[in-house]
Amino acid sequence: MNLEVKLMKNILGANDEIATQNRKIFSERGVVVMNLMGSPGSGKTTLLEKTLALLADKIKIAVIEGDLFTAKDAERIERAGVDVIQINTAGGCHLDAPMIQKACAALDLDAIDLLIVENVGNLVCPAEFDIGENFKAVVLSITEGDDKPLKYPLIFKESEVTLLNKIDLLPFTNFDLRAACEDLTTLHPTIKIFETSCTTGAGLGEWAEWLLGKAAR
Ligand code: MG
Ligand code: ZN
Repeated sequence: MNLEVKLMKNILGANDEIATQNRKIFSERGVVVMNLMGSPGSGKTTLLEKTLALLADKIKIAVIEGDLFTAKDAERIERAGVDVIQINTAGGCHLDAPMIQKACAALDLDAIDLLIVENVGNLVCPAEFDIGENFKAVVLSITEGDDKPLKYPLIFKESEVTLLNKIDLLPFTNFDLRAACEDLTTLHPTIKIFETSCTTGAGLGEWAEWLLGKAAR
């Protein structure tokens, strides 16, 4: 076995152990956890703001914000009136299970129904690291191009749901919606797809309803 492969296996092995511990704690405390992923600029934080506005009076939500350096996203989420913890990865391109374990020490898990973790903006390694979540979600914005599911298959295979975001921009791009949905379904036959726009509000009600159903479980 070459050294690089062995090293990667060890890193993931150690991560998975903590992820299993996290998952056990979340389950004991009755917290449903969503790992929200997507490229920088796909609209994750704006989507989160809109989602919180729709759900905050129905269930108790807390947010963990993963970012390389700033607290800009956490400040936005805080304005929505929910508890938010900022993790700065200092340049690291994904969140891992130990980071989540540490952040959760600052949260009152018993008072939370749904914990949303906004991962670092990146379509690659966030999908490789289990953080102890119940399910993963990926935001793909129309402006990123319809080729992304086939170019970054792992994140779409791992995610239970894809949000095709900024759907209002469809007429101004060459994004092939049908091809993208076909590719997503080929990669992951049971994947749930929402077409959303935080500008027009399209699809947000359906999405929030679906998420509420997940959190109620
Ligand atoms: Mg963000
Ligand atoms: Zn990474």
